[in-house]
Amino acid sequence: MEKNIFEKIRDGEEPADIVFKNEYVTAFRDIYPDTPIHILIIPNKTIRSLDDIEEEDGIYMSNIMLSAKKIAKEQGLNNGYRLITNCGKNGHQVVPYLHFHLVGGEGEFPLGKMITLPKTSKQKFKLKFEI
Ligand code: 5GP
Repeated sequence: MEKNIFEKIRDGEEPADIVFKNEYVTAFRDIYPDTPIHILIIPNKTIRSLDDIEEEDGIYMSNIMLSAKKIAKEQGLNNGYRLITNCGKNGHQVVPYLHFHLVGGEGEFPLGKMITLPKTSKQKFKLKFEI
């Protein structure tokens, strides 16, 4: 089966701006950044999505979290950041290889609130759970 883009980046077969790599994870800048700092962190093991992690993958998951903290510090994200993974169709995952978006940065395009639904949908959701 042909490798996908993140497998090729992980294996050094496609170029990427790699900001961190160790035995368990590879982190590189998103090609279409949504925020001033937008870095993708992947496990070095092929795992398709969050839905596919197993107990034995704990070491990869902990390294993703620890590297996120380290990279955020190195990138100057001193006022906070967000770590996101999109899972599956409804999560709008596009690349079928587990990845976490580390996003943040100051300036013209600050992060908004986490979920930006139209106000009417939010009201409906709130009402549903107030009953
Ligand atoms: P998803 O929607 O699957 O969570 O996010 C996939 C991300 O991968 C997108 O933000 C997209 O810009 C990024 N991406 C897609 N192809 C490439 C590539 O070839 N190189 C890099 N660095 N990022 C990519």
